[in-house]
Amino acid sequence: MTDLNNMPANFIKNIINEHQKSGRFGDRVHTRFPPEPNGYLHIGHAKSICINFGIAADYAGLCNLRFDDTNPVKEDVEYVESIMADVRWLGFDWQERLFYASDYFEELYGYAIRLIERGKAYVCDLSADEIRDYRGTLTAPGRESPYRDRSVAENLDLFRQMRDGVFQDGARVLRAKIDMASPNLNMRDPVLYRIQHAAHHRTGDKWCIYPMYDYAHPLSDSLERITHSICTLEFEDHRPLYDWLLDELGVHHPQQIEFARLNLSYTIMSKRKLRLLVEGGYVSGWDDPRMPTISGLRRRGYTAEAVKDFCERIGVAKANSFVDIAMLEHCIREDLFLKAPRVMAVLRPLRVVIENYPEDAVEMLDAEYNGENQALGTRQVPFARVVYIERDDFMEEPPKKFFRLAPGREVRLKHAYIIKCERVVKDEATGEIIELRCTYDPDTKSGASPDVRKVKGTLHWVAAEHGVKAEVRLYDHLFLKENPEEDDDLTANVNPHSVSVITDCIVEPVLAGAAKGARYQFLRHGYFYADPAEYQPGAPVFNRIVSLKDSWSKMQKSGGGK
Ligand code: ATP
Ligand code: MG
Repeated sequence: MTDLNNMPANFIKNIINEHQKSGRFGDRVHTRFPPEPNGYLHIGHAKSICINFGIAADYAGLCNLRFDDTNPVKEDVEYVESIMADVRWLGFDWQERLFYASDYFEELYGYAIRLIERGKAYVCDLSADEIRDYRGTLTAPGRESPYRDRSVAENLDLFRQMRDGVFQDGARVLRAKIDMASPNLNMRDPVLYRIQHAAHHRTGDKWCIYPMYDYAHPLSDSLERITHSICTLEFEDHRPLYDWLLDELGVHHPQQIEFARLNLSYTIMSKRKLRLLVEGGYVSGWDDPRMPTISGLRRRGYTAEAVKDFCERIGVAKANSFVDIAMLEHCIREDLFLKAPRVMAVLRPLRVVIENYPEDAVEMLDAEYNGENQALGTRQVPFARVVYIERDDFMEEPPKKFFRLAPGREVRLKHAYIIKCERVVKDEATGEIIELRCTYDPDTKSGASPDVRKVKGTLHWVAAEHGVKAEVRLYDHLFLKENPEEDDDLTANVNPHSVSVITDCIVEPVLAGAAKGARYQFLRHGYFYADPAEYQPGAPVFNRIVSLKDSWSKMQKSGGGK
């Protein structure tokens, strides 16, 4: 038996705890994650996955993976496969419980026959427009269809003919017979089946009638003996129909529970809209590192741990709200803080010649990988007469608070020595700075003596001859606005500078041998991922997962958190 006292509470668990006390489902907790395979999963789905699989785990219960594949024209096996890969990547396991709503088409048809026999469903010949028109509005009641009182025998006969392919698409539908005056529009004789002569990715041409989501979903839950059918808030108004169907049929009746969907700033959360970005060429694919899809986050370099931690922190609530994307970024920083080796990469190189360092000498310096985590060990970093530093780390006329390199100034090169800028070499024609001439102080080797003098700035650097060329991609928000959907034209809002590719970075030699999929902190630049789709040993490509600037944790500290 689950120890209920040791669990962080949320309103879903409170409901389940009540059921455990009353014995409504005995001891059982059985949930499901029910995606429609019409696109790749996004971070909103990750929340739903974590809730459904997480609750099952907390109560030593079960969670099914079920594809809600009732819409043949929009669905595809590519999506089925990507969804399974994403759920697995997050670390969840449906064991042998992989189901498809299409597996139940025969049973669903049988239930429809039962409803007809009980006078609870009828075949309606109104067109889609007429049905909408007859439905009424929130303020005006609906009107009954002229076909509503067909006899059971006629309904059975027509429904069988629908299945047999006698009629064209849209000619007839099967509707529940509930109440055209109900204040809830979903209860005004909702459509249960439509005619659609389309091949289904699993059932092929076997069917030309397909069940509606609102019909297939509760019955699929019931057939799988789900106890708690957890879904997002927009289904709250559909719950009366969910309950009506199961009660009328007298079958196993799960409890539907709704929670608020995740909305993330600078992001959209809809497979349909994400597909527009893919098809319109705004991104390179569903797994573009800028996409809020699980596959995009994975390719960007996010870890499953960080995504799950994020889902844990946002919690489950009943009210819709926006979550700051900075919080997601905070989670990956936290995850990589101790795990990632810290190395040096110069993204925009400026050549530095250390004039008093011997021409042919090379020193191998011991450098720890992570000052916060000694367990990551050390590597050797070559130091020589010519090194690269970051172009931004030098200013000829520095403002007051600039503590990096400037003429006559000293800085420390990380893991190495203190250097002093003696002279600036410029391109005579353009005036561009092409090289710095510096000297080093041999008595200031890092770690050699505890009381070497201190300087204010410490710069990362890479020895010119030993460094490896690398390509680095820096990412920004995919959309310009915090709420990209506040405009009708979503695509007008796409950030034209959401990626910058820098092709001539110089990184430490150790990175030439980095494994595909390895993650690093590049000192002062952020966390980077050796993108397995692009990465070639010897010619490394890195995605920046996230910069080091943590605006979310700053907001929390200053009390300005949302
Ligand atoms: P989309 O509009 O992106 O296709 P959907 O709700 O139609 O979303 P489904 O494939 O039907 O997508 O979703 C599977 C499950 O994921 C559902 O239970 C749904 O409620 C949940 N879900 C979808 N989007 C979110 C979100 N943003 N936050 C939390 N849960 C979500
Ligand atoms: Mg959907």
